[in-house]
Amino acid sequence: MALKYTNKINKIRTFALSLVFVGILVMYIGIFFRESYIVMTLAMLIGFLFIIGSTVVYFWIGMLSTKTIQVVCPSCGGATKMLGRVDACMHCSEPLTMDKSLEGKDFDEKYNRKSTK
Ligand SMILES: [Zn+2]
Repeated sequence: MALKYTNKINKIRTFALSLVFVGILVMYIGIFFRESYIVMTLAMLIGFLFIIGSTVVYFWIGMLSTKTIQVVCPSCGGATKMLGRVDACMHCSEPLTMDKSLEGKDFDEKYNRKSTK
Protein backbone atom coordinates (compact mmCIF):
# COMPACT_ATOMS: atom_id res chain seq x y z
CA MET A 1 0.00 0.00 0.00
CA ALA A 2 1.53 3.27 -1.09
CA LEU A 3 0.88 6.18 1.21
CA LYS A 4 0.73 9.64 -0.28
CA TYR A 5 2.13 12.29 1.99
CA THR A 6 0.79 15.77 1.86
CA ASN A 7 2.47 18.96 2.84
CA LYS A 8 1.23 20.11 6.25
CA ILE A 9 0.46 23.69 5.25
CA ASN A 10 -1.49 22.43 2.25
CA LYS A 11 -3.31 19.93 4.44
CA ILE A 12 -4.43 22.63 6.91
CA ARG A 13 -5.41 24.92 4.02
CA THR A 14 -7.57 22.15 2.54
CA PHE A 15 -9.14 21.66 5.96
CA ALA A 16 -9.94 25.38 6.27
CA LEU A 17 -11.43 25.40 2.79
CA SER A 18 -13.60 22.37 3.53
CA LEU A 19 -14.86 24.14 6.68
CA VAL A 20 -16.11 27.00 4.50
CA PHE A 21 -17.94 24.55 2.24
CA VAL A 22 -19.46 22.68 5.18
CA GLY A 23 -20.60 26.03 6.61
CA ILE A 24 -22.24 27.05 3.33
CA LEU A 25 -23.80 23.60 2.96
CA VAL A 26 -25.29 23.70 6.48
CA MET A 27 -26.69 27.20 5.80
CA TYR A 28 -28.09 25.97 2.48
CA ILE A 29 -29.79 23.02 4.17
CA GLY A 30 -31.27 25.51 6.64
CA ILE A 31 -33.16 27.18 3.79
CA PHE A 32 -35.15 23.97 3.30
CA PHE A 33 -36.44 24.27 6.85
CA ARG A 34 -38.05 27.66 6.34
CA GLU A 35 -41.27 26.52 8.03
CA SER A 36 -39.38 25.81 11.23
CA TYR A 37 -37.84 29.00 12.52
CA ILE A 38 -35.76 27.22 15.19
CA VAL A 39 -34.21 24.67 12.78
CA MET A 40 -33.42 27.39 10.24
CA THR A 41 -31.87 29.69 12.82
CA LEU A 42 -29.88 26.78 14.24
CA ALA A 43 -28.62 25.77 10.78
CA MET A 44 -27.61 29.37 10.04
CA LEU A 45 -25.85 29.62 13.38
CA ILE A 46 -23.94 26.32 12.92
CA GLY A 47 -23.04 27.27 9.35
CA PHE A 48 -21.80 30.62 10.57
CA LEU A 49 -19.71 28.91 13.25
CA PHE A 50 -18.04 26.72 10.59
CA ILE A 51 -17.12 29.80 8.60
CA ILE A 52 -15.78 31.50 11.75
CA GLY A 53 -13.81 28.30 12.42
CA SER A 54 -12.24 28.40 8.98
CA THR A 55 -11.24 32.03 9.53
CA VAL A 56 -9.51 30.94 12.74
CA VAL A 57 -7.75 28.09 10.86
CA TYR A 58 -6.64 30.53 8.14
CA PHE A 59 -5.27 32.82 10.82
CA TRP A 60 -3.48 29.81 12.33
CA ILE A 61 -1.91 29.02 8.94
CA GLY A 62 -0.60 32.58 8.89
CA MET A 63 0.97 32.04 12.31
CA LEU A 64 2.45 28.69 11.27
CA SER A 65 3.83 30.14 8.05
CA THR A 66 6.23 32.27 10.06
CA LYS A 67 7.72 29.06 11.45
CA THR A 68 8.16 27.28 8.13
CA ILE A 69 11.47 26.87 6.40
CA GLN A 70 11.69 27.51 2.69
CA VAL A 71 13.57 24.72 0.94
CA VAL A 72 14.15 23.66 -2.63
CA CYS A 73 12.86 20.17 -3.23
CA PRO A 74 15.62 17.86 -4.48
CA SER A 75 13.08 15.79 -6.37
CA CYS A 76 11.18 18.36 -8.43
CA GLY A 77 13.33 21.46 -7.92
CA GLY A 78 10.41 23.55 -6.71
CA ALA A 79 10.46 25.80 -3.66
CA THR A 80 8.41 24.39 -0.82
CA LYS A 81 7.63 25.31 2.76
CA MET A 82 8.51 22.84 5.48
CA LEU A 83 6.84 22.65 8.84
CA GLY A 84 8.58 20.63 11.51
CA ARG A 85 11.42 18.18 11.05
CA VAL A 86 9.71 16.13 8.41
CA ASP A 87 7.28 17.31 5.81
CA ALA A 88 6.26 16.53 2.27
CA CYS A 89 6.93 18.65 -0.78
CA MET A 90 4.02 20.91 -1.78
CA HIS A 91 4.39 20.02 -5.45
CA CYS A 92 5.40 16.37 -5.72
CA SER A 93 4.72 15.13 -2.15
CA GLU A 94 8.29 13.92 -1.83
CA PRO A 95 9.06 13.31 1.86
CA LEU A 96 11.66 15.80 3.05
CA THR A 97 13.58 15.98 6.30
CA MET A 98 15.59 18.62 8.09
CA ASP A 99 17.32 16.03 10.19
CA LYS A 100 20.31 14.21 8.70
CA SER A 101 19.82 11.27 11.07
CA LEU A 102 16.37 10.66 9.62
CA GLU A 103 17.53 10.65 6.03
CA GLY A 104 16.65 7.53 4.14
CA LYS A 105 14.25 6.40 6.83
CA ASP A 106 10.58 5.95 6.20
CA PHE A 107 8.63 9.14 6.44
CA ASP A 108 6.79 9.29 9.72
CA GLU A 109 4.76 12.08 11.26
CA LYS A 110 5.88 11.05 14.74
CA TYR A 111 9.42 12.27 14.07
CA ASN A 112 8.06 15.73 14.65
CA ARG A 113 7.26 14.95 18.26
CA LYS A 114 9.99 12.54 19.23
CA SER A 115 13.34 14.05 20.09
CA THR A 116 16.31 11.94 19.11
CA LYS A 117 19.72 12.38 20.67
ZN1 LIG B 1 9.00 18.30 -4.90
